Amino acid sequence: MRIADALTPPEALSGLSDSPRLDLELLLGHVIGQSRSYFLTWPDKQLTETQLSAFNALVARRLKGEPIAYILGVQSFWTLELEVSPVTLIPRPDTEVLVETALDCLPNGTFRVADLGTGTGAIALALASERPDWHVVGCDLMPDAVALAQRNGRRCGLDQVAFLQGSWFEPLDGRFELIVSNPPYIDPLDQHLNEGDVRFEPRSALVAEAAGLADITHIATTATEYLTDSGWLLFEHGYDQGEAVRLLLTQLGYNQVETRPDYAGNDRVTLGCWRGK
Ligand code: GLN
Repeated sequence: MRIADALTPPEALSGLSDSPRLDLELLLGHVIGQSRSYFLTWPDKQLTETQLSAFNALVARRLKGEPIAYILGVQSFWTLELEVSPVTLIPRPDTEVLVETALDCLPNGTFRVADLGTGTGAIALALASERPDWHVVGCDLMPDAVALAQRNGRRCGLDQVAFLQGSWFEPLDGRFELIVSNPPYIDPLDQHLNEGDVRFEPRSALVAEAAGLADITHIATTATEYLTDSGWLLFEHGYDQGEAVRLLLTQLGYNQVETRPDYAGNDRVTLGCWRGK
């Protein structure tokens, strides 16, 4: 089969994916070890039998709905390429807003920073890549996620980032100038959980009780024991949770509470500055 034919999306894929052609290019690139530009240059090149059968096996997985990132085993985030696996969420572009906001919070200097529910380590590693002076620690409840994040630290040449196992603040001591988290925040009844890539991701990383606000509430409350005076707390949250998270932070005594939009213009990140006690 010619490359150009292999990259013509079957109808079933167009029904399933927002980017069927790109999906096929990524899968074929993975099989033959070439970048996407190669396909544009050599559309008439014939694939070998071995290449074609390996490619078809990956396409079959995609047609069952499996996310491209899990099939490839990697996902780009910020300037990094991270290993991903079904033990964690796939890092999303919107989460880069959390990284940008976090980078804006503190002046130059050496600070202690914690990422709660770090998963692949995406946020912790992106922050460490931009601020080599920060002492960044990422925590996750799942031992497999901690091991994955540690591998990502080595992969990115950022093994100064510490990854620790435990529930939220459990592995932490002392106080932090910045605490960030992209916790589970989807309402257990949200239909979005039955659609698309999200079906293959771990529920424990997605869903929280209390209409999605249980973990955010727990973290915001407990963070008052772990933030320095004037330390910052930042959350990613659902597009419709900005008002609730602002109210929560304000009631707990955080100052300068505000929400930032994601790339689609939806409320996505809320931050507050701990006033101290
Ligand atoms: N934004 C993700 C989604 O809607 C959820 C991420 C999360 O729960 N932390 O699929």
